[in-house]
Amino acid sequence: MPTYARADIVFERGEGPYLYATDGRRFLDFAAGVAVNVLGHANPYLVEALTAQAHKLWHTSNLFRVAGQESLAKRLTEATFADTVFFTNSGAEAWECGAKLIRKYHYEKGDKARTRIITFEQAFHGRTLAAVSAAQQEKLIKGFGPLLDGFDLVPFGDLEAVRAAITDRTAAICLEPIQGEGGIRAGSVEFLRGLRDLCDQHGMLLFLDEIQCGMGRTGKLFAHEWAGITPDVMAVAKGIGGGFPLGACLATEKAASGMTAGTHGSTYGGNPLATAVGNAVLDKVLEPGFLDHVQRIGGLLQDRLAGLVAENPSVFKGVRGKGLMLGLACGPAVGDVVVALRANGLLSVPAGDNVVRLLPPLNIGEAEVEEAVAILAKTAKELV
Ligand SMILES: *Cc1c(COP(=O)(O)O)cnc(C)c1O
Repeated sequence: MPTYARADIVFERGEGPYLYATDGRRFLDFAAGVAVNVLGHANPYLVEALTAQAHKLWHTSNLFRVAGQESLAKRLTEATFADTVFFTNSGAEAWECGAKLIRKYHYEKGDKARTRIITFEQAFHGRTLAAVSAAQQEKLIKGFGPLLDGFDLVPFGDLEAVRAAITDRTAAICLEPIQGEGGIRAGSVEFLRGLRDLCDQHGMLLFLDEIQCGMGRTGKLFAHEWAGITPDVMAVAKGIGGGFPLGACLATEKAASGMTAGTHGSTYGGNPLATAVGNAVLDKVLEPGFLDHVQRIGGLLQDRLAGLVAENPSVFKGVRGKGLMLGLACGPAVGDVVVALRANGLLSVPAGDNVVRLLPPLNIGEAEVEEAVAILAKTAKELV
């Protein structure tokens, strides 16, 4: 179906941060499959993990124990707030599991009317009917009604609006700590802490969507760690599989207490191939120094981007984001900026708020930062 306005490029192979098209062109990939290829393309360690597993066992379903899934779950719970994990194939499914878990939690507690979730303007949680009903953006929902009931939308960053929206039917607050599709809009530390406090005061669950900002992207394993808070539920995907479709819903034992045998499921979720790659990604992301590297290289890129903004104020209006989840607010239409950057050999991703997203593999070095900045500078001169 023609649901995408695709760029007319076919890539035939990738190597680290570079993609090679069938027409011979080479691109520096600061899109990384929309924050997915955290270790770049054709990473030898991931290729080895996937092919070794492919020779042994692909799929058995969740009617049986899956060794790779158990080890990945154990490692994710050891590294985070969570006690328990449900694996999926995509972000939307991971988010949907979280939404179902929230309703079930209050239902089993006897609070059956407590079904509503507070969500935020310009949020993005995926494309299922529940996820678009939660985000309620016009471009996501137009023509797809009736929507799922139960979501109360408030402005992002506005703690007072959240407080005012809480009723005795509010079950949870759900947000991206840094909105991705919405334009790299980061919730402040005070905002995140305020939401945690409100959840504690009102017996609500805090549900974070770290599908884009998690898995090391901001220089911490998960973005909420910067605020010194923990959620009750968290959706993860994108980077967790490094390019293999994999998602996960993480939760505390208490929050997940209603998710008993038979209440939820997925045929493929967490299958041997996906979790072999997920374990290999986690090996690298948890290696000592990896997240420090993201912080250092992200800081360098952010400094360089601030320099570009100062030199080209009509084209680039400001830098936002954290680690290697960065955005440049644009003067010209962001679509035109993305096309011009691509013509000069740099891939990026457009976002809301007229922002171009830079989401490179997390293992890039200074040379790639300088190469990207040179292309951005050249493109800015062309666009003035
Ligand atoms: C990409 C994304 C999703 C949806 O993930 P899919 O794998 O496309 O279903 C949900 N939430 C956020 C924050 C995302 O960036």
